[in-house]
Amino acid sequence: MEYVSPEGLRLDGRRPMEMRQIRAEIGAVSRADGSAIFEMGNTKVVAAVYGPREVQNRSQQMSDQALIRCEYSMANFSTGDRKRKPKGDRRSTEISMVIRQTMEACIMTHLMPRSQIDIYVQVLQADGGTRSACINAATLALSDAGIPMCDLVTSCSAGYLNSTPLLDLNYVEDSAGGPDVTVGILPKLNKVTLLQMDSKLPIDILENVMQLATEGCKAVANYIREILLENTKQLEYRRGV
Ligand code: UDP
Repeated sequence: MEYVSPEGLRLDGRRPMEMRQIRAEIGAVSRADGSAIFEMGNTKVVAAVYGPREVQNRSQQMSDQALIRCEYSMANFSTGDRKRKPKGDRRSTEISMVIRQTMEACIMTHLMPRSQIDIYVQVLQADGGTRSACINAATLALSDAGIPMCDLVTSCSAGYLNSTPLLDLNYVEDSAGGPDVTVGILPKLNKVTLLQMDSKLPIDILENVMQLATEGCKAVANYIREILLENTKQLEYRRGV
């Protein structure tokens, strides 16, 4: 199948290096300590953060750092008839672990010993790239909760179809069976904290695809900074500062 037309356009009209439209909103779950909605095109996720709070299971308490827990799930209505199991399956368990490890790389856990931080991410609408969207939503929710972080971790994926590197694959492109590389970066520290790939790719092409995904992560980071700045301005305005 042709995923990039001779004119260089993808099935949804994007250019190969074009990301889907992103949109974020802070404070979507009022009972949580921090929360956010993050959308990448038709992929829409919500993240809610609770903590730092007392460790529920005392045997997991650590005297020198906070315990980070993460739960990824997909809403029953998120994928139409394609969804297999909303949570508790191997894919959800793996993505929960990946998101937890990625967020652990930026949370200053040593500042909150003997406490626990819970990150819940739920996919409301899935159209490819849900793990990236969840990481971006979690970053915003953690910031909203005031959790100290050394950087704002952001994520984006890129693939390779019809001999062309493509940024931010949607579901149709993702299910074409080509490689899908998900990258997470710490933009200020200029470090890669997540790299996942779901099929084989020659090393020189991997570099191109990874570079493209990294550019996507940087664009997300710029947007997230804008949203956080805007949110802080609004908070100051409401407090009359
Ligand atoms: N998907 C689905 N049902 C499932 C799992 C995945 O419809 O049970 C779709 C969904 O759109 C998802 C895409 O397949 O975004 C790609 O899933 P993958 O496991 O590659 O993770 P993602 O790209 O979402 O991080």
